[in-house]
Amino acid sequence: MAALAPARYNGNMVIHTHSELRANLPLEDDGAGLPAIPVSQHPVSKFREFLDLKKLKVTGERMKIIEHVFERHNHFEADQLLQSMRDRGMRVSRPTVYRTLSLLVEAGLLRELRFGRRSAYEHNYGYPSHEHLYCEKCGNVVEFVSEELNRLQDEICQKNGFQAEQRQFIIYGTCSACRQKRQTNRKYDLI
Ligand SMILES: [Zn+2]
Ligand SMILES: [Zn+2]
Repeated sequence: MAALAPARYNGNMVIHTHSELRANLPLEDDGAGLPAIPVSQHPVSKFREFLDLKKLKVTGERMKIIEHVFERHNHFEADQLLQSMRDRGMRVSRPTVYRTLSLLVEAGLLRELRFGRRSAYEHNYGYPSHEHLYCEKCGNVVEFVSEELNRLQDEICQKNGFQAEQRQFIIYGTCSACRQKRQTNRKYDLI
């Protein structure tokens, strides 16, 4: 699968500090999410089931977090989620947010993505499998679905007797808006 791996992603977990995260550009969604796919259960009830199975407590704080996360589809970092909940007057602690996010990943409701050295989350349940374009200049994230990539994955896995669980295909580069800006700046330089 080496050919499919994004150029900058070396597969190692990078633990970063909060100050490093804050220093990074915000993740920006282009607003054009993919159409949701129908699921039999509401994510909240699916999470309740998972917590029961794990013999973990269904706490109000945990429920508030999942409700907030599933209000709309976007890519977010743990600290961004914490901030947006606090902005809305919700009282949640940072450790609970981090712990709940990893439980949501374990439950298959969220998926963790790595945009360079940054860790972001997005819906995995009720959302089609897709790939990403990530702009390193402005942090813009664009989602796309490719049947060709799906076919290629099947072919590669079959050849290697491999059973795929998940994949991450992220293209790093410069989005069209940033490229346009760069071109305009260049034009002004010439005048
Ligand atoms: Zn950009
Ligand atoms: Zn996505």
